Amino acid sequence: MKATTKIQAERVAKAGAAKMNALTHTMKDCSIKRLRGIQFTIINNDNAARYTVSIDPAKTFCGCPFFRENREFGACKHIEYARQEQAWEEARVAEWETAQA
Ligand SMILES: [Zn+2]
Repeated sequence: MKATTKIQAERVAKAGAAKMNALTHTMKDCSIKRLRGIQFTIINNDNAARYTVSIDPAKTFCGCPFFRENREFGACKHIEYARQEQAWEEARVAEWETAQA
C-alpha cells in the first residue's frame, strides 16, 4: 500500500503496530529480538516472515514491502513496534535507576 502523505504512512504504521502488541494483539503474533544497539529482528509467528529493522534516526530502515514503497516517509508497523519496544525498555531502566537512588 503506497501512502500519499507522511501522516497517512505513520497512521497505518501505528495501527499495524497496535495489532502486534502482545497485550492488545488481535491478529498477529510477533516476536521481537534485539540484534545490536537499536537494530531489531521482528518475526511474524503466523507465517515466519522476518524483517530486520533499524530505528536509528540517521538511517531508519525496514525490509518489509510497505517500507520499500513508503521509504520517503520512514514509517512502517515494524519500525513503530521497535520504537515502542525501545521506549518500554528505556522506561524500565529509568524505573530501576529511580529505585536504586
Ligand atoms: Zn516494516
